[in-house]
Amino acid sequence: MQLADVILPVPLDSTFTYSIPSSLEGKVKRGCRVVVPFGNTKTHVGVVLAVKSEQEFTNQQTANSDNKQSAGKTKSFAIKSILRLLDEEPVVTERQLEQWQWISDYYLSPIGDVMVAALPSGLKSEDKYKPKTEVFVKMNPRLMDERNMHIALDVLKRAARQAEMFIAFLQLSHLDQTTGKTLPETIVEITRDELLNASHGTTQTLRALVQRDFLIEYEREVGRLNNLSLQPYKPVNRLSEAQQDAYNHILLQFMQKNVVLLHGVTSSGKTEIYIHLIQRALERHEQVLYLMPEIALTVQMRQRLQSVFGSRLGVYHSKYSDDERVEIWRKQLSSDPYDVILGARSAVFLPFQRLGLVIIDEEHESSFKQQDPAPRYHARSAAIMLAHKYGAKTLLGSATPSAESRYNATPDGGKYGYVTLTTRYKGIELPEIKVIDLKNLRHRKLMYGPFSPDLLKAMREAVERDEQVILFQNRRGFSQMLECHTCGWTPRCERCDVSLSFHKTTNLLICHYCGKSYRIPDRCPACDGTDIRHRGIGTEKIEEQVMSFIPEARVARMDLDTTRSRTAYERIINDFAAGRTNVLIGTQMITKGLDFKRVSVVGIVNADTLLNYPDFRAYEQAFTMLSQVAGRAGRHGKRGIVYLQTSQPQLPVVRQIVANDHDSFFRELMAERQTYCYPPFSHIIYVFLKHRNTDTVSTAAAEMASRLRQQLGDRVLGPETPYVAVVKSMSQRRIMIKVENSLSLLRVRQFLRQCQQTLLANKRYNSLTIYFDIDPQ
Ligand code: ADP
Ligand code: ZN
Ligand code: ZN
Repeated sequence: MQLADVILPVPLDSTFTYSIPSSLEGKVKRGCRVVVPFGNTKTHVGVVLAVKSEQEFTNQQTANSDNKQSAGKTKSFAIKSILRLLDEEPVVTERQLEQWQWISDYYLSPIGDVMVAALPSGLKSEDKYKPKTEVFVKMNPRLMDERNMHIALDVLKRAARQAEMFIAFLQLSHLDQTTGKTLPETIVEITRDELLNASHGTTQTLRALVQRDFLIEYEREVGRLNNLSLQPYKPVNRLSEAQQDAYNHILLQFMQKNVVLLHGVTSSGKTEIYIHLIQRALERHEQVLYLMPEIALTVQMRQRLQSVFGSRLGVYHSKYSDDERVEIWRKQLSSDPYDVILGARSAVFLPFQRLGLVIIDEEHESSFKQQDPAPRYHARSAAIMLAHKYGAKTLLGSATPSAESRYNATPDGGKYGYVTLTTRYKGIELPEIKVIDLKNLRHRKLMYGPFSPDLLKAMREAVERDEQVILFQNRRGFSQMLECHTCGWTPRCERCDVSLSFHKTTNLLICHYCGKSYRIPDRCPACDGTDIRHRGIGTEKIEEQVMSFIPEARVARMDLDTTRSRTAYERIINDFAAGRTNVLIGTQMITKGLDFKRVSVVGIVNADTLLNYPDFRAYEQAFTMLSQVAGRAGRHGKRGIVYLQTSQPQLPVVRQIVANDHDSFFRELMAERQTYCYPPFSHIIYVFLKHRNTDTVSTAAAEMASRLRQQLGDRVLGPETPYVAVVKSMSQRRIMIKVENSLSLLRVRQFLRQCQQTLLANKRYNSLTIYFDIDPQ
């Protein structure tokens, strides 16, 4: 008897063993889908992970019970039998299964959850995916003969409508009217609808012709994918000298490294370089995966790539209909796959046959990391891993690379190649950034609401000249931060080097990493002032203020409230692009990928909320976000100006943003990260615990933390009560673990699983949830 280990769409940390009925022996293969019974009544569609003999199975069981460390990863009770096999050939390839396994192991996610994330729903259920079909009409081959054709036409002389339709058919399909043979043109397939339209005939007439056996109807699968053979209509642009240099360097680096980081300022032409690399890969008969952080950004890029690569380009992301996604999946398995796939996060799960190049655009974006639900994977890591399995190369691109990638591209990090591109295409200048000292202006009572005199003046002038203004206000974590209104001081944790969060209910300042709490000081330790309060105003308030100070401005606001629907988002963008509005106020949504021609002024209303966000990445995110916002100014022709308002103008990071000095910024960032043992010098792991009952969750969290400390000591911080402690009536706790690079992450993960299992086995903690977030963003 043969057995199969099957991955099922259930969040349990195991695969499941079923027996293969003799009728299916030899047919059930790794990567095929099967239908299996589950529980007493249910069935599931699962993917076969392994086929093995009874002997292998028994050996494995014995080994597992001998060795408690690797506590049986495969569950089996009374072995049931596979009910049905859905595929003759695997729909999940060898390398994909390896990738699933890697994601499951690395991110401590059940492999069933990985399967759920990876497969389009159409492949996960048994209601058979219905291919789209159409009815076609062809001529009976008997008539492809001069004599028979003559007789047929003779017969039809007494049926005018049928004759008309038949002639129309012959014309449509380029068949010779005397011989019934194909004309020199290639055979064309005629759909029933086409014929009815062309002949203005009815279905009855057609039926008569079919009954006479002159025409034959047949049904065929046609596919939902764009079947037009889109011809490329644009040749690849010639690279500038600087771009050609970078391109050559990338290829040179690829000879030694599997991953290269392309660090190029905004508008330097990174995309042009990607296009040349794709071109080269296609010439070598390799496939390319092009990942972008947001679905919205793929829309513009699709047009740009399609103009060069035509129908060799396919697009894949979660907003596509399920049937379309199934069809792209199947196409990638077929003999005629897309050569280039453009997609967002989920495209890393598509099957490839000859992947040669992976491009990860805007690699610093945190949206590459999946937050919820599991698997909490980083698409950048998953893509690099996938490329590795294919022996393919990966290019990471960004104007503001993530600290991790930048570090990996240093001699110390030693993993990636590094190529820079420091000039914009056609030498357009980066915007000028002016820093405005809010502390000083507030002190002298010179502010106009949220605006400094300089910013307000620049806005007025821009509106008068019919130019445009973008105002940026970050909203994250407003109410959770306190500051000294006099000098801008914010309280920080002395152990973790992050800003403290203010908890209203307890009236305490709490460190979100280690849980240490602090009293709110009566006086500011920096300036002895007493005016310590919440900071920040929202985008709505700013909108109001713009309208009161500049009544003639046409103002639009883009934030979560105004963009609930997709069309609202597009309308706001289109109105601004067309100049119907001239002042756009927004949150981080406006920082990404938008390219407006008439923006001469960008105002960063208050950079402090970003700079003091209670996260060790606060400066990194501030550098990225503020540089990207600044990049919106003066992109076409005229040099733009940016006003950066902050009460901490003395911070080095502010100077570095102004000078676009990523190198100094990065050097100082690394020194700080090393001191406090943050990534890239460590991995961070969050352990989340959830339960309906607050007491249960806090006891469990305390026990979990103390178990973890037995082996990991003071690498374990917390447990901590998140700022939003109750989500969907579940109480939450979080434990943070810092694992320095010299420690084996593998061993730590095993230990985490062990502690998790111990707690979950305890009846006291019935229906407790414990999950992990590895390398959270
Ligand atoms: P990045 O990806 O670095 O932001 P892009 O590739 O989008 O930069 O280039 C910015 C603008 O300059 C685009 O409009 C692009 O078409 C144009 N451009 C860049 N390089 C070239 C080139 N070699 N030939 C023609 N146009 C170019
Ligand atoms: Zn102060
Ligand atoms: Zn702390």
